[in-house]
Amino acid sequence: MFSKRKTLKVLSASFISLILFPYKYLYAAAKKIINPKLTNEQKDIMFNEGTERPFTSSLLDEKRVGFYHCANCGAKLFASTAKFDSGTGWPSFSEALPGAFKTKIDYSFGMKRIEYHCANCGVHHGHVFDDGPSSTGKRFCNNGLCLIFKPEN
Ligand SMILES: [Zn+2]
Repeated sequence: MFSKRKTLKVLSASFISLILFPYKYLYAAAKKIINPKLTNEQKDIMFNEGTERPFTSSLLDEKRVGFYHCANCGAKLFASTAKFDSGTGWPSFSEALPGAFKTKIDYSFGMKRIEYHCANCGVHHGHVFDDGPSSTGKRFCNNGLCLIFKPEN
C-alpha cells in the first residue's frame, strides 16, 4: 500500500517535470552571463542547475566575517554570521539576506525540492531544506562556485 503510493508520487513528480520542461528551458534562456570570467563549471551550475562535487569548495573552511556575493552579478546574498558547517560538503547557511533569492519547486530526480536562484540575475545557487539546526530551521545548501566571499575590513 505504502510503496504503491510512493510509486505514484514519483510517477506524478516525473510527469510534472515533463510538463514543466519547456518552461524550465525558457526560464533558463532568460538568465544572462554578467561576469565574463565564469568558468564552464560555474556556468553549468548556474545555467543548467548542475551541482559541484561535495567537499571541493574552498569556501567550506571560510570563517572570516563578511558577505557572500553572487559570482555572476555580485549581489550580496549571505552574511557570514548565517554560515554553518552542515557536514554535507557544500557551504551552508541558516538564512539569506532579505530579497536575495527567489525560489521554485524542483521535481528533478523524482524528488520535490525547493530550488533557489539569485533574485537579481536569475542564476541557480542551490536548494533550501527545512532541516537547519538554528532557529530559522532552514538550510541553504549552496554551490560554493556560485559565491564570492568578500571579507569585511
Ligand atoms: Zn546574481
